[in-house]
Amino acid sequence: MRRVLPIALLALLAAALPAAAQSLPEKSEHVVQYRIGVTLDPATHQLAGKQTLTWRNPSTTDAVQELQFHLYLNAFKNTKSTFMKESGGQLRGDQMAKDGWGWIDVTSITTASGADLKPSLTFIQPDDGNRDDQTVVKATLPEPVPPGGSVTLEMAFTSKLPQVFARTGYKDDFYLAGQWFPKLGVYEPAGMRGRETGGWNCHQFHATSEFYADFGSYAVDITVPGDYVLGATGERKGERTNADGTKTYTYEQADIHDFAWTADPDFVVVKAKFSATQDVTPAEYERVAKLLGRSLDQVKLSDVDITVLLQPAHRPQAQRHVDAAKAGLKWYGLWYGRYPYRTLTVVDPAPGAFGAGGMEYPTFITAGSAWLFNYWPFDRIRSVEMVTVHEFGHQYWYGMVANNEFEEAWLDEGFNTWSTSKAMVAAYGADATMVEFLGLRLGDRDMNRASNDPAGRYNRILAKSWEYTPTGVYGFYSYYKPSLVLSTLEGYLGEQAMARLMRTYHERWRFRHPRSEDFFALVNEVTGQDWSWYFDQVVRGTDIVDYDIGSARTRPKNTAQGVFDEASGRKTVSSEDAGKQDADIEKAKRQIFESIVVVRRSGGVQLPVEVAFKFEGKAVERQSWDGREPTKTFRFERPEKLEWVDVDPDRKIALDVNWVNNGRRIEPDRRPAASWTARWLFLLQNIITTLGLL
Ligand SMILES: [Zn+2]
Repeated sequence: MRRVLPIALLALLAAALPAAAQSLPEKSEHVVQYRIGVTLDPATHQLAGKQTLTWRNPSTTDAVQELQFHLYLNAFKNTKSTFMKESGGQLRGDQMAKDGWGWIDVTSITTASGADLKPSLTFIQPDDGNRDDQTVVKATLPEPVPPGGSVTLEMAFTSKLPQVFARTGYKDDFYLAGQWFPKLGVYEPAGMRGRETGGWNCHQFHATSEFYADFGSYAVDITVPGDYVLGATGERKGERTNADGTKTYTYEQADIHDFAWTADPDFVVVKAKFSATQDVTPAEYERVAKLLGRSLDQVKLSDVDITVLLQPAHRPQAQRHVDAAKAGLKWYGLWYGRYPYRTLTVVDPAPGAFGAGGMEYPTFITAGSAWLFNYWPFDRIRSVEMVTVHEFGHQYWYGMVANNEFEEAWLDEGFNTWSTSKAMVAAYGADATMVEFLGLRLGDRDMNRASNDPAGRYNRILAKSWEYTPTGVYGFYSYYKPSLVLSTLEGYLGEQAMARLMRTYHERWRFRHPRSEDFFALVNEVTGQDWSWYFDQVVRGTDIVDYDIGSARTRPKNTAQGVFDEASGRKTVSSEDAGKQDADIEKAKRQIFESIVVVRRSGGVQLPVEVAFKFEGKAVERQSWDGREPTKTFRFERPEKLEWVDVDPDRKIALDVNWVNNGRRIEPDRRPAASWTARWLFLLQNIITTLGLL
């Protein structure tokens, strides 16, 4: 049963939240161990790879005989792949190059003891049964891996990178190698993410889906032509020049679930250091520790080596990228927990390699920029910073708190969109985070609100990422709406309780795989209240939120006139008598005003809301409404006229699709009591909707 609590009570309960001190897990459980050697041939854009892979069966009950691998590059193999069918060769505004195909072949696969698994390799299509899709392959072992046991495989593969498209590939001599090696899916034992029986979770590659893999360690030797500048996930542990003039670089990293690298002879290498003592002031540490109810020790950060691999044309933006990376390390680190790795690499893709931009891998992110952003006024548009902060933020949401991006993308994209706004505000100031020029100031959060289309009521947030209809709305339901869901939750809980909730969520699920249910349960746990009424509507449900003022009036309560039957007999009050009496009352200033306000809920989502009333000469008063019925009428008889009314006066309900209609001035000015910004935003919202910019 749904329970709706008065807002004031909700806030009160939230304020009483215990600080629930938890420690930050230092390490992940290592399920996989990859040792890879790969050589790039720039002439063919192919990678020759060998990998030794050890997999530990995480189940305590299941013996597992089958392994499932992602072969993502086969998404770009031909027009019959599920990815190509779904995307039509277009993604995120980017078009796949003609004949720029990519693929990956497993050329050999044996167990450590020499058993050949190659004959058992079979492509499977667990999501859509498209027989032509080769993005998932299964291998059968000669004997099962016992519970808690492990198996080591020797594999060889050849990958042909596509021309940069959908996060990976080459553009001239720029390379971004993402999803380039055979990567194990996740074996989920019974009980994990609500599973009833153990089994592989290994989805095909879709147009609108990202990834899901297990934690472990990677050690990768990458061989490239000697004049290439290389960057990769993790720490560089070695570098050697080979007889043929190529160079081999070794990178290692533990507690991660993916590995990407980049190479380009033109990169400008910018090195910087995030200093835990110089980039964060003692006052900032103290403020955050207090906000979170944690000790100073618990919020202490550590130093990180930052490498920005910049395109020469973007040289003037070097500091912007460094500052944004530091802003991410600082604010995400303070709020959710220390960044546990020693390195962070920020890649600025080559011109024309737009499809490789704005992407995240462990300790390695790709930014998004253009030469235009070197110059005024475009240097005031903080999209360069926003992309870097956002992609960095994925180190937390999906990188460490590793939800299944295929099935519940909102847990990373939505949480990260919300967190990006917060970090942008903390680093660059409220309202100035996206645009700040010519007197126009617009925050990242305003942009999220602007995307909240009143017509967006046909899908639910909680859906598999390739099942949104049409596919173009993936961005709205997994990024923007979820960020508004969290902002609205923060409106109800208050800033401190929300900060503690998110900290606790990160701590509990760092290096693990949560699902939505786990977040919902945690909200219930830390608030001591059942919030299913909220999540059922806004995450599982499809409808929208819109509160407005249906009508509002205030007028003198006049003396009654007409024929009245009283104990002493029938009595008539003429209009003249009544008028006289009213005039006397007015003269004596003893008038009573009758004010009637109808507040409406025009969306289907029922959320408790506050309504503010301002009477002449009086302080603003508030009343709560549970929002259950479509309308609520408020009546007052008072000596004061009602001046204005405003529903959700603090604008806590960020999910409200239109804030312009929330307020009403009674007289003499009947215009909506909305700020200029709110109106501007609503206009922007309409423009975005009209142009289909989502
Ligand atoms: Zn993202």
